[in-house]
Amino acid sequence: MNLVALKEAGGERRVAVIPPVVSKLCQLGLTVRVESGAGAAADFPDAAYREAGAEVFTDRSAALAAADMVWHVQHASGAEEALFRPGTLYAGFFDPFRQTDRLRRLAAAGVHVVSMEMMPRTTLAQKMDALSSQANLAGYAAVVHGAGRLRRILPMMMTPSGTLSPARVFVIGVGVAGLQAIATAKRLGARVEAFDTRPVVEEQVRSLGAKFVKIDLGETGQSAQGYATELTPEQVERQREGMAKICAQSDLVITTAKLFGRPAPRLVTQAMLDRMQAGSVVVDLAAGAGGNVEGSRPGETVVTPNGVTIMGDMALEATVARDSSAMYAANLLAFLEHFWDAGAKAFAYRLDDEILAGCLLSHSGRLIHPRFADTADSTAS
Ligand code: NAD
Repeated sequence: MNLVALKEAGGERRVAVIPPVVSKLCQLGLTVRVESGAGAAADFPDAAYREAGAEVFTDRSAALAAADMVWHVQHASGAEEALFRPGTLYAGFFDPFRQTDRLRRLAAAGVHVVSMEMMPRTTLAQKMDALSSQANLAGYAAVVHGAGRLRRILPMMMTPSGTLSPARVFVIGVGVAGLQAIATAKRLGARVEAFDTRPVVEEQVRSLGAKFVKIDLGETGQSAQGYATELTPEQVERQREGMAKICAQSDLVITTAKLFGRPAPRLVTQAMLDRMQAGSVVVDLAAGAGGNVEGSRPGETVVTPNGVTIMGDMALEATVARDSSAMYAANLLAFLEHFWDAGAKAFAYRLDDEILAGCLLSHSGRLIHPRFADTADSTAS
């Protein structure tokens, strides 16, 4: 089998395959082909890929036309995808809820699309959970980048020249990214508060030494997969009121609140920003998913008239591309190993396996994932 990894487009610094993973893939019996320069922005030069056993290519069209498997971080262009052969396994962050036309096209062309976002959040699939591996690093990077914009330090400092009080950090949304943001801010000495609509999180926040902000929202819940359920407009309003004072007192606010498959809730309003102190910083990790913060722009940093910096960087994990690529490539490798048929030296499509049922969107010319059944219907019509 022939596995191809491209140099990512659009300024993406991560890469889906790193040299140590190439060695393991070669041991499994795969031929690995990596585009020249694919790992450069993550500090993996072509020579390291060659040493690990990969072929480094420059002719993208020829490589794609011969590929049995394509691994990616962001999906390739439509023109590149048109080169895939029927039966190609195409695995990576596919963004399936926003790429329904693309998904229909690929399914009709017989491409087997695996969406890493749809990987089940189960213990068995933990090693393949790319959303978690990347969110973890995004949570870390949010604190580091946010702190870098502050004109004050995070820890308390007692010196003969005076005493500096610790900075106050408020983390809104305590999933994987939020927990790592709390842990990082605590390690740097900040005073940390946090809030999430899922009450089960309170204990985790406390165990990291942070304070859980209590806001009575009435009935809130989570799905079987552990995702937050959407609040009513009245609950969102109550949440905003409860958070406004904390935001006003905070030096660094990090928002990570997301709703799986839906736009992120708008939690920090202009009125709340107006009450914040000049010099404070808000990092909106949900900027690419609709934004938790009013006025945040995906991929941009803006400063409000009252001096609050809003960072809307998308995929902050890509700023630590070496580590995020290593984790992502390990997730893809674990997925492949789980389904690898060593005798046949091929990917075994065990369609009744709960991991594959969760993340395989199309197979044998059809959209097979139940979540995209509507999309499948429109294909048929
Ligand atoms: P996510 O990125 O979907 O959302 C981030 C956080 O935002 C969540 O904690 C969510 O509750 C919160 N949120 C949503 N609306 C909010 C609001 N209005 N105000 C405040 N917070 C709000 O979440 P995630 O990091 O992907 O984690 C989702 C769940 O999956 C968690 O329960 C996590 O523990 C679980 N998980 C399980 C496994 C596993 O079992 N292998 C692995 C990873 C994550």
